[in-house]
Amino acid sequence: MTDSRVDKEFRFTLLANPHSKLISEEIEPVIPGIEIVQGENIDASRFLSTDIFLVDCVDPEWALEQIKALRKDENHVIKPVGALSQEPLNGQGDLIDEPLLLSADRAQILRQIENLKKISAEMVQFPVLPEGIEANKRKEILVLHYLAARAGGRYALRPKPDISSSTGYIYPLLAHFLEYPSAQAHEMLDNWEKAKLLQGDVVDRINLCPHCHRYNLNFREVCPQCESGRIQEESTIHHFSCGYIGFERDFTQGMKWICPKCGKDLRHIGVDYDKPVDNIWCSDCHANFSEPAVQCFCLHCQQVSPPSDLIVRPVAQYYLTNVGLRYARNGVLPEFGFIDLLKDDFNLYDAKVFREFLRVETMRCRRYKYQSSLMLLQVENFGELWIQQGLDFVTKLRKEFIDLLKRELRTTDLLSALGGNEIALLLTHTPVQQTDLIFDRLRRYFDSVFEHRLRLQCDRYDLSEQASDLERFLTNDSRPASESN
Ligand SMILES: [Zn+2]
Ligand SMILES: [Zn+2]
Ligand SMILES: [Zn+2]
Repeated sequence: MTDSRVDKEFRFTLLANPHSKLISEEIEPVIPGIEIVQGENIDASRFLSTDIFLVDCVDPEWALEQIKALRKDENHVIKPVGALSQEPLNGQGDLIDEPLLLSADRAQILRQIENLKKISAEMVQFPVLPEGIEANKRKEILVLHYLAARAGGRYALRPKPDISSSTGYIYPLLAHFLEYPSAQAHEMLDNWEKAKLLQGDVVDRINLCPHCHRYNLNFREVCPQCESGRIQEESTIHHFSCGYIGFERDFTQGMKWICPKCGKDLRHIGVDYDKPVDNIWCSDCHANFSEPAVQCFCLHCQQVSPPSDLIVRPVAQYYLTNVGLRYARNGVLPEFGFIDLLKDDFNLYDAKVFREFLRVETMRCRRYKYQSSLMLLQVENFGELWIQQGLDFVTKLRKEFIDLLKRELRTTDLLSALGGNEIALLLTHTPVQQTDLIFDRLRRYFDSVFEHRLRLQCDRYDLSEQASDLERFLTNDSRPASESN
């Protein structure tokens, strides 16, 4: 048999439900040599040499626990997992690779087993991750591996509606394995898309509360005058000769219509009166109108916002790109740092171009005897903060930083990114003492807003003066050794 040759290369383990014997008996002839582990509580972390897991799904709840345990375990998360059942399964598709139906024909089952082997074979291409990579980064690389090993690198990472998530959607693998809150998972995927590791296809757009960033909004119609919700539609009559507008019921007297204001009879529509389309009435301010206003009440933080203020977040399904595949195979992630927060709002000069401007400015300063300054600014603990404090903190940091830089900088000042976490600022016609003041203001401001959590580091250089580390910075690509502040 051609299959048995391949079978020897892959080690299969079946996690079997203690209450079902049938499945083990049926799968054994299909996968000769499969290891069968039966028990109520199986410690899946033990099976390090297993290449492919199968899970007995006779008891779906028990099976889901086993599958979740595998998808939480760094050693197993990217391994192929097949589900074995007699009946088609409902709703466990997100974490398994192949649902194997024992009632299907043998050829179908063998095809699915081949798919599982393909995934396992792909994994050989990934490097073992070195110790010392920070835990979350390690896991993120494993997610890239997971995507790269499946569907020939065209695996679709699909969002799934989930009311327990703040954004209304989760990515099941990320939720189980990374254990990131959904907002952080979205942010990570956004960043990967910006770095061209992923390509996203938008499947939905979700409206989020601008105050608490959750999706739990009630869209409600209110009076455009006083914002009261006590509005209702009611037939309305406009009497031409006196101009009175009121409820139809107030005009009705027996079989006749009499204007309650001027007492005249109403006979012909279009001649004596008409029925305006403004037939929605506010019980509080008595305004009438045709289109109510819409407001959004957040059921979570209880703030009211106009629809135009909502954050509209695209929800996408993602595919790995060739760039992403390369990163997966190299076992690294692109540097993501503080600078990425500023990219969208500032025109950041390319580091080479910036250095050229800097060289020219330095020459001018020295020839024409005026002072310009160079500032190198970094948030030393950005990576830590991002992990410890999460998305809200980083969003706030970004906003404050951008506002502050916009306040402090003139249009003639140039900005560039050096590394992932460092910006270089060229302040023309600015003595270095003045940059001390700018940095002092910056530091005091951030200390008060972020309660001393930000470790800012800043080096200042006077371009009109020769200094050895400045010369080094001008002439090669390395940054000057920093002095502490
Ligand atoms: Zn009238
Ligand atoms: Zn009103
Ligand atoms: Zn809210």
